[in-house]
Amino acid sequence: IGSSCAALNADVLLKDLKKEVKENGLEKRCKVKGVGCNGLCSEAIMVAHYHKEGDRESIYSFIDSSNTKDFIDTLNTNTPIKNKKCDKTKPFFTRQEKIVLENAGIVDPDDIDDYIAYGGYYAFYKALDDMTPQEVINEIKISGLRGRGGGGYPTGLKWDSVAKVDAPQKYIVCNGDEGDPGAFMDRAIMEADPHKIIEGMALAGYACGATKGYIYVRAEYPIAVQKLNKAIKQARKKGILGTQIADSGFSFDLEVRLGGGAFVCGEATALVTSIEGNRGNPRQKPPHLSDYGLWKSPTVLNNVETFANIAPIIKKGGEWFKSFGTEKSPGTKVFALTGHINNTGLVEVPMGITLRELIFEVGGGLPKGTKLKAIQTGGPSGGCIPIELLDTKVDYESLKEIGSIMGSGGLIVMDETSNMVEVARFFMDFCQSESCGKCVPCRVGTLELTQLLDKFIAKKATKSDYALLKNMCEVVQDTSLCGLGQTAPNPVLSTIKYFEEEYLEGIIND
Ligand code: SF4
Repeated sequence: IGSSCAALNADVLLKDLKKEVKENGLEKRCKVKGVGCNGLCSEAIMVAHYHKEGDRESIYSFIDSSNTKDFIDTLNTNTPIKNKKCDKTKPFFTRQEKIVLENAGIVDPDDIDDYIAYGGYYAFYKALDDMTPQEVINEIKISGLRGRGGGGYPTGLKWDSVAKVDAPQKYIVCNGDEGDPGAFMDRAIMEADPHKIIEGMALAGYACGATKGYIYVRAEYPIAVQKLNKAIKQARKKGILGTQIADSGFSFDLEVRLGGGAFVCGEATALVTSIEGNRGNPRQKPPHLSDYGLWKSPTVLNNVETFANIAPIIKKGGEWFKSFGTEKSPGTKVFALTGHINNTGLVEVPMGITLRELIFEVGGGLPKGTKLKAIQTGGPSGGCIPIELLDTKVDYESLKEIGSIMGSGGLIVMDETSNMVEVARFFMDFCQSESCGKCVPCRVGTLELTQLLDKFIAKKATKSDYALLKNMCEVVQDTSLCGLGQTAPNPVLSTIKYFEEEYLEGIIND
């Protein structure tokens, strides 16, 4: 059960359903299991009813413990529960393409056998039995998979650089330190399908010659941490982790490390420093992690979604993966839809879908009586996109061209009541409080920028404040040490670009 449903007492519902099935003597006919997020948080709690004969399936929305008897009636009469059925033909379901989330809402994350029953660990054994490490890397290169953490660097190239280094010890690290406001993609993947991440990391270990891996997870994600730890134990028990796998000579083991509680710990160099037990401060690059990473050893660092793409690619091939998405951005992308949108939740769509399709078809549009004003992608490093650019394709290049970024997948929809200067200030305040303070442009610059934005909101800014605001954005971008500072001005710059009148309204005539 994922966090959103857990907040609605889905664990109580699960217990009640199991109890009801037992008390009615239906255990042989009906198996009740808890699964991860199926995406439609706005209709939680959802219960899916799979019929073995003919594979018919019904999904029910807004279920709670008061509905447990309805499920017994359904089992006995084979008729659906009235007024609770979710329309599976709506675009929220039909426009999605699930690779990363293929098991979410289907497989029990607490049960390795359930994962295996749905094809889990097939790719891992296929690689060990039939592929050399270089062939695994080549397949990832063919797929064109790019890092889903935001940067979009080709995963195959990253793995290749680590594989080529001759070193006694190498590491595979998974970044699960998701911290963008409005983002919960990685949390949902870790909660729903932890074995898929383990399988992707083990494949990376085999491909790059690494024997040890770490999953660095936000400490504020207790369910994800619990699922991952349990999954690691199960994988060890099955002889997948922690032991030498016969004939191949390969062995790989994993540990979960809790995040240091700061947004900047998600930055690559800060993250490895934090795993080493030090304060998570970023450092200058180069040297890159592929040469000088965790404990000075060559390290592959990818995020949760990237690793979750690996097993399907090895199982079905790089060419198959490339059949989704665009030429330069193959595959799919998971987005967390939040804000003024009907279908809040988690979706996976092919790259190249337009923002209009994503918001109005998959997302079901805005609540009645409200009108779209802007879309924010990329979290505090991203930008605000106006409605005039709704037909922009969702891929790395197209979003960058219009002054935003793909980011890790947080997508906030804003209606006409949103004040764009206040939106920019919200993100700047976030960056300012999350700045590690190591370098002056970020430490002082983000504070100055927040104070300047306050003047615009209070309608007490001057023309020279406006010139200073723009100049300060450039300085912070150009001179900060790490990505946090370098991208902190993006929300300000994009709102100036597309919503300048709201800044001008904040200037007094001097
Ligand atoms: Fe720290 Fe900000 Fe400098 Fe990054 S840019 S090192 S977060 S002060």
